[in-house]
Amino acid sequence: ARLRDVLATKTLEVRYQPIYDIAEGAVRGYEALVRWQLPDRGAVSPAEFIKLAEETSLIVPVGEYVLDRVIEVLVALRDAGVSPLPSIAVNLSARQLVEPGMARQIVQRIDQAKLPAGTLKLEVTESRMLDYAPVAAVMQHCRAHGIPFALDDFGTGYSNLTHLHKLDFEFVKVDQAFARHMFDSERAMAIVQAIVAMAHGIGAHVVMEGVETVEQLERLRQMGVRYAQGYLIGQAAPTAAVLSGEAARGLQAKESALA
Ligand code: C2E
Ligand code: CA
Ligand code: CA
Repeated sequence: ARLRDVLATKTLEVRYQPIYDIAEGAVRGYEALVRWQLPDRGAVSPAEFIKLAEETSLIVPVGEYVLDRVIEVLVALRDAGVSPLPSIAVNLSARQLVEPGMARQIVQRIDQAKLPAGTLKLEVTESRMLDYAPVAAVMQHCRAHGIPFALDDFGTGYSNLTHLHKLDFEFVKVDQAFARHMFDSERAMAIVQAIVAMAHGIGAHVVMEGVETVEQLERLRQMGVRYAQGYLIGQAAPTAAVLSGEAARGLQAKESALA
């Protein structure tokens, strides 16, 4: 009931975590992460309430809500003359992705706003019940309208190589656990290298999640990883910081401080 209220009053917050383009040395995009502030409980993690939203079907209006906020931000940046526009990735659960009419709605919203191809991305988390045919159809429809896909949290959970085999992803987001442990042992590093090589082999860009140190970033650069996301680059920032450009400047500020 309270989730319905925050949707109606538009008080669910969407934050934007910067994604660093290692090759270009600049932030070129963000991931939209939803936040639910409760007066008596503080911030409730999406990890907690997305599951609840899925069980109650509220995931559909939550997804629409996030998508609307993201499009507002992209339109505001475009109207302010920002060029090139950053890309913003929106998370979709597999449940949302195959919701009837979902793809049509996403495409309609993007077309209406006349946003250039590639500015909206979709991140899909692996899940055990991924049914390939409907998912592939939805992906194809979205892609035809300039919306690329990222396979999220790769390497953990319901990670299944069949997803990569049967579905076409432009980006593979490697789960944070791999960045965290890459320097623990040669075995850990070998696994990271193998995942990166496999993603590159199927023509996907790698986004490494959970990058927290300069040492990790440097090693990823050497491996040819294109994108890094994590607290080293910046935490999820409020809309105002994206509109002002401040959210994109975190690492540059740190790098010049290190130099
Ligand atoms: P995710 O897609 O894997 O999102 C990344 C999570 O890792 C975020 O947590 C982010 O704050 C955290 N993180 C980012 N960089 C670092 C780092 O360097 N170190 C550490 N320790 N953590 C980092 P958050 O915001 O709590 O999101 C949790 C999950 O909730 C997300 O995981 C995503 O799957 C889901 N989620 C978030 N927003 C939405 C949404 O709008 N729709 C749906 N369906 N799911 C969402
Ligand atoms: Ca994600
Ligand atoms: Ca992730």
